[in-house]
Amino acid sequence: MTLHLNTPLLESRPLSLAAGRSVWLKMDALQPPGSFKIRGIGAACEHHASSGKRRFISSSGGNAGIAVAYAGRRLSIPVSVFVPETTTDRAKALIRQEGAEVIVHGASWQEANERALSALDAETAFIHPFDDPLLWAGHATMIDEVVASGLSFDAVALSVGGGGLMAGVAQGLARNDLAHVPIIAVETDGAASLAAAMTAGWRVQLPAITSIATSLGARVVSERAFELAQSRAVESVIVQDRAAVEACLRFVDDHRVLVEPACGATLALAYTHPASLARFERVLMVVCGGATATLAQLQSWQAA
Ligand SMILES: *Cc1c(COP(=O)(O)O)cnc(C)c1O
Repeated sequence: MTLHLNTPLLESRPLSLAAGRSVWLKMDALQPPGSFKIRGIGAACEHHASSGKRRFISSSGGNAGIAVAYAGRRLSIPVSVFVPETTTDRAKALIRQEGAEVIVHGASWQEANERALSALDAETAFIHPFDDPLLWAGHATMIDEVVASGLSFDAVALSVGGGGLMAGVAQGLARNDLAHVPIIAVETDGAASLAAAMTAGWRVQLPAITSIATSLGARVVSERAFELAQSRAVESVIVQDRAAVEACLRFVDDHRVLVEPACGATLALAYTHPASLARFERVLMVVCGGATATLAQLQSWQAA
């Protein structure tokens, strides 16, 4: 039994009309911890549990930390999540709600992460938010599900932070003989580490993350994501925060599901960047979700 759900796959009438082509949604926003991350993190946690680990550690104050906390509760394994002082009360509450311990340490993620690593011992597994082959294999199941449903599609659009989701989707496409299907890799301006690496030809480190889409905030994209961008069809698109937030609010009205701007970035391709989809007839969008934004927060970003 896996810790993730087989999520709904539906053709979106409003997004298809906005994009002028068929847009299908893989609704991973409906995973119990609120994002696709439980696919890979659930698989990694199950692997570590069966190899005898007795504790999980994460250093993510976002959806990865929430997913590890959820996995630990389901597997009856204690979880400690080390987060920096900047982590929102809402994110901490979502982690604690799953029964995990939250340890606040340091001004930045680097410091929280160092403390997390220093707490490791032989019985503890550290769960990385994106850079782990165990995660990619778990994320790949979303493509298995889409293929099993019988849908064919000619592009996959998804959001990129550290690139774990992209690595998993690429693996899922490859193991279903769909390695030729292009991936449209969406980032927000201010968190676009993949776009920067593709332009430079090496893995550039962004000086800072300035986007509100903090779930996309990896200053350097993973080596695997960069390799994929050089070895398969990957098209990079950057959208503004404003377009991502607007997409979230339109999506609430259209599909009655609330997602983070990290996910709104991908939805914005249909709503405000239809030209980026013009070469395709049927686009699969990964609705990656995210639990850390509220409706009030989205509205205040929109008003800013
Ligand atoms: C983690 C996350 C992403 C980015 O995933 P990566 O594997 O880091 O590229 C996108 N959207 C949401 C909601 C996330 O939680």
